[in-house]
Amino acid sequence: MIKVLVNGALGRMGRTVLAAVNADEELKLVGAVDKFPGEVDGVEVATNLSVALMECQPDVMVDFTRPDVVFENVMLAISKKVSPVVGTTGLSDETMEKIREAAEKNDTPAFIAPNFAIGAVLMMLLSQKVAKYMPDVEIIELHHDKKLDAPSGTAELTAKMISEVREAHKQGHPDETERLAHVRGADYEGIKIHSVRLPGYVAHQEVIFGGLGQTLTIRHDSTGRDSFMPGVLLACKKVRGLKGLTVGLDKLLD
Ligand code: NAP
Repeated sequence: MIKVLVNGALGRMGRTVLAAVNADEELKLVGAVDKFPGEVDGVEVATNLSVALMECQPDVMVDFTRPDVVFENVMLAISKKVSPVVGTTGLSDETMEKIREAAEKNDTPAFIAPNFAIGAVLMMLLSQKVAKYMPDVEIIELHHDKKLDAPSGTAELTAKMISEVREAHKQGHPDETERLAHVRGADYEGIKIHSVRLPGYVAHQEVIFGGLGQTLTIRHDSTGRDSFMPGVLLACKKVRGLKGLTVGLDKLLD
């Protein structure tokens, strides 16, 4: 049995993860932590991560907290030789590099996925394939209005993966101007990213490719948080067999 501690257990994702871990025969929930004390599904929620990691002795810490605290949580887990499985978004390339170094130095594998939904992973892989042939592309990501960071980690990773297979270039008219600030979206190596935040959404993304006389749209919708659970459970089961830092659910698929 792989022992799992859930950090951010009182949050939207944390509660869903806790229930999924509890229902899985290969995983054993040994602890739950959040900013304030509470109870989820009969499990007591502690507030001191450092103490909980020592007392509960988990193999894996799942983190769905906030962009401003996730780095600290991950470094703490690695220092105690507990493997982090991280869903919290907002980590920069710089902080990921520090996590990679710490994971290697402490011989404690770590796993980060900006999106744990298999459909979203396929959307990114397909986008990378299409971009080779249709290099003009814009990304629209749509999320619920409680999301703290923008753009979404998925949009950023999609842009990064696309830019690995196409030359950076300016899109749209060379002389285009913005009469309203940022109306053309953010720019990632020439790829425009647009973030929508509205009540009613969970997590959605469209990748739109434009070519001569045609467009191709790849769209993924997470309509419920259960869409992320198979990916989270798979990462909990596989992380201890990895080395250093692994980023992206695609790395765990055959
Ligand atoms: P949420 O409902 O706000 O949950 C976050 C929880 O973490 C809250 O209960 C929060 O408490 C708690 N928290 C804050 N600081 C903490 C600390 N220092 N230690 C422990 N817990 C702390 O957010 P969510 O919707 O579950 O999303 C969480 C993260 O997961 C976000 O970054 C989101 O973008 C990401 N996400 C990733 C995926 C993926 O597939 N990778 C999917 C969905 C969401 P307070 O409310 O009191 O601050």
